[in-house]
Amino acid sequence: MNDDRCDVLGPLMSGYVDGELTQQQRQFVEVHARDCETCRRKLDELEELRARFAELDLEEVNTTEWRERMNEPTVETTRNVGWVVFIGGVVLAATVGVVSFFGASDVSTLAKLIVAGVYGGLVLLLISVARQRLIEQKTDKYRDVEI
Ligand SMILES: [Zn+2]
Repeated sequence: MNDDRCDVLGPLMSGYVDGELTQQQRQFVEVHARDCETCRRKLDELEELRARFAELDLEEVNTTEWRERMNEPTVETTRNVGWVVFIGGVVLAATVGVVSFFGASDVSTLAKLIVAGVYGGLVLLLISVARQRLIEQKTDKYRDVEI
């Protein structure tokens, strides 16, 4: 039975993972962990946890650089996707509206022409907005990848 030694080992584990134990204490932990699967698992979990924290620290140090390299294009891409989805939705809604409108037989030709003009103008407006976005992207000095 390892129960007594497990009790002693518990408080030593975090010290072991942090490298704060004496040589004797380290040896005690290592010898016991070799024989006791429960404590070996706990020790593994602690070590994994500590490694993850170390990674987090590293990320924090590199946050500024990381943000410049990763976040900027991500934000840009998300915004572009948002635009595409928005414009696509508007065009789709307009198309459905136009089709059902022009399909209706009780609407006069004049009314159809007026609506056609309104929608035509709207589409031209959207195209010019999209073109403006493309031009802005190309002149963006932080941007070296074009979609
Ligand atoms: Zn144990």
